[in-house]
Amino acid sequence: MKISFAPPYIDQLVIDEVMDTLNSGWITTGPKVAILEHQMKQLTASDAAVCVNSWTSGAILMLKWFGIKEGDEVIIPAYTYCATALSVLHCGATPVMVDVDDDCCISTTAVLKAITPKTKAIIAVDIAGWPCNYKELKAIINTPEIKKLFIAETAKQKALNRILLIADAAHSIGATIDELPASKYSDVSIFSFHAVKNITTAEGGCICINLPPAFDANNEYRYLKLYTLNGQSKDAFTKSNGGGWKYDILFMGLKINMPDICAAIGIGQLKTYHAKLLPLRKRIASIYCEIFKEMDWFIEPALKRDNRESSYHLFALRIKGISEAQRDQIIDSIMSSEITVNVHFTPLPMLTLFKDLGYEIGKYPSAYALYANEISLPIYPQLTDGELIFIIKTVINSVNKVLQLDNFKELEEIEL
Ligand SMILES: *Cc1c(COP(=O)(O)O)cnc(C)c1O
Repeated sequence: MKISFAPPYIDQLVIDEVMDTLNSGWITTGPKVAILEHQMKQLTASDAAVCVNSWTSGAILMLKWFGIKEGDEVIIPAYTYCATALSVLHCGATPVMVDVDDDCCISTTAVLKAITPKTKAIIAVDIAGWPCNYKELKAIINTPEIKKLFIAETAKQKALNRILLIADAAHSIGATIDELPASKYSDVSIFSFHAVKNITTAEGGCICINLPPAFDANNEYRYLKLYTLNGQSKDAFTKSNGGGWKYDILFMGLKINMPDICAAIGIGQLKTYHAKLLPLRKRIASIYCEIFKEMDWFIEPALKRDNRESSYHLFALRIKGISEAQRDQIIDSIMSSEITVNVHFTPLPMLTLFKDLGYEIGKYPSAYALYANEISLPIYPQLTDGELIFIIKTVINSVNKVLQLDNFKELEEIEL
């Protein structure tokens, strides 16, 4: 049975939306992007939502928006996807990496120690969809001693007058804190609509802002939209609809707008996200937990506790006490049954770019430990019960084989 890792969810609703866009005569940024932005604003209970062509470009945009430049520092976890750090490097600033807690979230005590007068922002990462402790992070950046350290250089920095809290919400669309959208607790949440994420637009992303009252959300929305389109005063859709040919370039913007043809896929998927796609992911995670709980080697991932709930983007299986080499053997065994699994993530200090920049994995023991025993299992709405049972049996057999556990035998029939 061949089982892929994270195929996109394409049903008739998605196809109809895309066909509608193709037949409309307008395929780049226009009415569909406006609809997706409106829906994202509502889903995240944010003050404004701006669609872009990737999480990465959205993060670069927001760091530039805040005026982050060479000499500035941005605190990030060592345990994340490279894009978190690359967005900082692309602005010429320094990613200051800190270790994570057992639940994979950036360690708030490590953040506190890492803050300097150069710190301009923190990017916390909701790994696997599990939201970070934003309340605690907000409390830290709002303490008088920490605020006193902050040196405001640009108009936006003066308006905020403290460190900017960004959520790398690439995994966490639909995650909650106190039953509210998790994005309410950071200043800026950036979502990814890459093909493997919970909601996709093939490639894409969305910036959701929840800034303090010193900022006017409508003004920031208009400014950010200009920023995604070269700083051009009139967009192509307005011009093509009789808006006149004259335009101006107001500042050095980026070219990172989302096309309508992509937004259409996202709109189609969002139609069933809360009623169907997210509950199906949650069901799979619950079944994995329920069955693996019987195994002594199972470490349960953070999914729902402390008033927080995941978006069930990844199912991060962790196995007690195994080495990195044993983890790799287990993966080989699972893969030999044609089930595709993954590892999220290789900590950044283990990758060539970051090693060359001087980061050392030895300084991030928790990130390394979380990586060394992790295997991400398939979790997506299309997964059938038959496939799920096959994955569970294969995983249990593979772990028992590699760990040479006694009583290794085929599992009894699993009933869901
Ligand atoms: C996927 C991902 C990104 C990057 O998203 P893109 O839309 O591909 O730029 C950033 N951070 C994390 C944690 C991710 O998993």
